[in-house]
Amino acid sequence: MTGEVPPETSKEEAADLLAKLVSIDTRNPPGREKPLAEFIYEWLESREIDAEIVDRPDPDRPQVVAEIGAGDPDAGKLVLNGHMDVVPPGDRDRWSVDPFNGVVADGRVYGRGTSDMKAGLAAAMLAGRAAESSGAVDGKLILTFVMGEETAEPGTKTLLEGIDADYGVVLEPTELHVHTVAKGLAWYAVEIGGKSSHASKPELGKNALDALFGNEARLSAYRHRIAERTHPLIGESLCTPTMVSAGTKENVIPESAELRMDRRFLPSEDVDDLDEEIDGVFDPLREEGFDVSINRVRTYEAAEIDPDEHVATVFRKHANDVAGVDTAPAGKNAATDQRNFVNDAGIPAIIWGPGTSAQSHTTDEWARVDLLHDSVDVLCRAVEDLCSVSVEET
Ligand SMILES: [Zn+2]
Repeated sequence: MTGEVPPETSKEEAADLLAKLVSIDTRNPPGREKPLAEFIYEWLESREIDAEIVDRPDPDRPQVVAEIGAGDPDAGKLVLNGHMDVVPPGDRDRWSVDPFNGVVADGRVYGRGTSDMKAGLAAAMLAGRAAESSGAVDGKLILTFVMGEETAEPGTKTLLEGIDADYGVVLEPTELHVHTVAKGLAWYAVEIGGKSSHASKPELGKNALDALFGNEARLSAYRHRIAERTHPLIGESLCTPTMVSAGTKENVIPESAELRMDRRFLPSEDVDDLDEEIDGVFDPLREEGFDVSINRVRTYEAAEIDPDEHVATVFRKHANDVAGVDTAPAGKNAATDQRNFVNDAGIPAIIWGPGTSAQSHTTDEWARVDLLHDSVDVLCRAVEDLCSVSVEET
């Protein structure tokens, strides 16, 4: 049996570490993870934790892996995962604090990336330190700090190619609720090509914008149709038009129009099928003589594990014991790197972390210090359960 892993972390220390992580600007784009990767590597190494800088998939944007424990093959191996990149802060004037200064006030830490997801990184670091200093991990606790999550780069995917593990936790913000499923995301660019003419003689052109608007009923019918596909934990399938651009001047019939759409899909939906469905929505415009090209410009697959997987059960129990967190099954409406664990590496993984998901990507983003502190406690208890020689069902 793995022995006790006491958390040994005060709220002040947890808040200070999070503030420090936030003060290292890792905005993506362009992808400035490097100084944070170096900071995390040195922090771990100086606490006797075996860490490594990994310069794949991009040497300018290194990642960090650390391993703790005896590595007994009969004991469990748990991976904690967090992305180091954050979305840009947007208009600085709309922030009431410096987004990259890590301000601690009123039981919160403020700044870009506090909830999404540097609170998760801090939790992994502090739990890793506790596990190392306890010397009580039979199996392995593996920490992965990755690049490029916000722009769908293969950070987590690349790291997991070299890791053999039994369980994973993606430390995205869930306020300590266990999420076992995440919706997928696909962005589509639909380009419609027509023919320009003087606006006083529209009959000489082919108005691409008219074609786009004229297709609205078909798109609307499609959206209603897919909304009938639902999942008990993450709701309905969605297709939302989000951007449109067309035209060159007021008196010119537009020869092209582009529509961008955000498609949120369920684990039961296949990405290739989505492409065919969207193509079918716009195909009639081809028959009307328009050029139509459709590109899926970004994809995060959906992912799902059984809500009763051991890792999910263990985290639900301890989050409830430590912080009274509701144990009802839950899922995430947004895509995460859980898909790389489940779909690519075959490792059952949950989404679970101390941040507040409603704070993700917002102005004046914050994370709660009490949840960060509790998360370290939960992680230590979960390590005791999952990384022991005799894995017990709890
Ligand atoms: Zn995130």
